[in-house]
Amino acid sequence: MSRWPEILAASAIALAIAGAVVAQGPPQASPAAAPAAATLPSGGAGEAFAISGVRVFDGERMLPAANVVVRDGRIEAVGADVAIPAGIEVVDGAGRTLLPGFIDAHTHSWGDAQRDALRFGVTTELDMFGDWNRIPQLRAQRESFDATDQADLWTAGATVTTEGGHGTQFGFPVPTLAADGDAAAFVAARVAERSDYIKLIVEDFSGHSDTRRLPTITPPQVAAAITAAHAQERRAVVHASLQADALHAVASGADGLVHIFHDEVATPAFAAAAREGDAFVVPTLSVIAGFAQAGDGAALASDARLAPWLTAGQRGALEAAFPGPPRAAPLDNALASVAALHAAGVDILAGTDAGNPGTAHGASMHGELALLVRAGLSPTAALAAATSLPARRFGLDDRGRIAPGLRADLLLVEGDPGSDIEATRSIVGIWKNGHAVARPRMDQAAASPVIAEGALVADFAEGTGVRYGHGWQITTDAMAGGSSVAGQAWAERGAQGSRGALRVSGEIRPGFAFPWAGTMFHPGAQPMQPVDASARSELVFQARGDGRSYQVMLFSGSSMQAMPSMQSFTAGPEWEEVRMPLSAFAGADPATLRAVAITAGLPEGAFELFIDQVELR
Ligand SMILES: [Zn+2]
Repeated sequence: MSRWPEILAASAIALAIAGAVVAQGPPQASPAAAPAAATLPSGGAGEAFAISGVRVFDGERMLPAANVVVRDGRIEAVGADVAIPAGIEVVDGAGRTLLPGFIDAHTHSWGDAQRDALRFGVTTELDMFGDWNRIPQLRAQRESFDATDQADLWTAGATVTTEGGHGTQFGFPVPTLAADGDAAAFVAARVAERSDYIKLIVEDFSGHSDTRRLPTITPPQVAAAITAAHAQERRAVVHASLQADALHAVASGADGLVHIFHDEVATPAFAAAAREGDAFVVPTLSVIAGFAQAGDGAALASDARLAPWLTAGQRGALEAAFPGPPRAAPLDNALASVAALHAAGVDILAGTDAGNPGTAHGASMHGELALLVRAGLSPTAALAAATSLPARRFGLDDRGRIAPGLRADLLLVEGDPGSDIEATRSIVGIWKNGHAVARPRMDQAAASPVIAEGALVADFAEGTGVRYGHGWQITTDAMAGGSSVAGQAWAERGAQGSRGALRVSGEIRPGFAFPWAGTMFHPGAQPMQPVDASARSELVFQARGDGRSYQVMLFSGSSMQAMPSMQSFTAGPEWEEVRMPLSAFAGADPATLRAVAITAGLPEGAFELFIDQVELR
């Protein structure tokens, strides 16, 4: 039997788990950041600095050499004849170009995304589906002028999608619009959650697969949701993979498309409709290039101008590929469509869809700019697509240009990206809110923290808690398109007369070729954070259950999306000790242990498993 299906299953599991776990919490405090290596001045409260004799891309066009003065977090003056006040620090801009910080108009910003973005000059991200509970915190963050190591974030929050539709497969509950549901009421609920804009998902998967289909919202619901968003003073943006769906969205008044469709090249009729409706397009060429598996992400990961600042997670994400065979046609269609739409006067905005395989927050923006130039935009048009255009189209009035009064979110690069777009990668300095951003190299980051705690992970004496690490978390095949379910709860009477155990139960259901459902434990303080467990040699726990075979999956390695290593055990009616040497997990690296999952798989049907006295000895 070919190993391909197993690899596919394991990689789907890895992606699902990596995606689902990082979606759950607000960004965590970063470990102590290294001090700024460069001597870039800051212009925080009461402070000022200047950049002298620098070529300025002001968001719309390239200016000849100018002086730029920053004070109290804002741009104070720009111009060739601007005098630099005596006594303030001056950065030499000769041979360099100053740009507005980049705005990535399509991301999925979980975990460290905002930090990863800022390290590459992306000072603002527009999230197109994320945790709505953090919106008040995000708003406070982006209104602040404090020093920060994070990009600002706007978000759609929950999306307008249907039951079982695209966006529901990430393993955590999201609101959905029923097939006969009221789109206006649904949009009102998103506005009550304080979504910054309303994102609609029109996706039956026919543009991605010959066989797999997903339910999606109906054309009348698309029109009603757009109307409702506008009535509530929110922009309505649409994910559509097919030209027919995109045309309907634009004809219904959508403010923009957050992907370019890729089933065919944009027709003159579509271009006219988009122009007529003043709809913008965020093509997300970076993620569509990933369908072609031509190595665009890996090329960014190995670019010496970017590589030293990539975390292992970012590098792994850039090198990751979508499962399945490569498909070149979507990228060819997308490039041709971008050329046609740009020529027709449709606003093209730079967005990466970072969070997906083949992309990384921050770094991929430099790849997206190059792809836009490849599609036929001039370098300055590509730079506008990443600065003034997204600011204007999303109403971000305080950023996206270099002009007096605007927030000093700035990027200084060596050379002239107006003639060579890849010059954006030669970063000299980044300022956020007028403060210089520390840019520690990530390839010299410290090794994973060593597990210092004792062998016992959990004894379930008092509840489902753990002695260390992030705790037990349900995992299912939902992200891979499956529909298996699982739940977990404390149960009385554990192994060897102990007080309690963890009961994991659920049902393996059809919908994915290699279904799974169960629970997982993260030994680090954050989900999937690697810890050095090389001093441990064995996973030991007590188990009883329904007689099924269960898998133990060990997640380790430099990338969160690395494939897990698996071992099986059978859970019979009586408590029994399960002992698994870590060396038995082929390919696993205990020095970077990220998670341990215990799951049921085929055959379909209900399952019930009890575990107790979990130890890493
Ligand atoms: Zn997306």
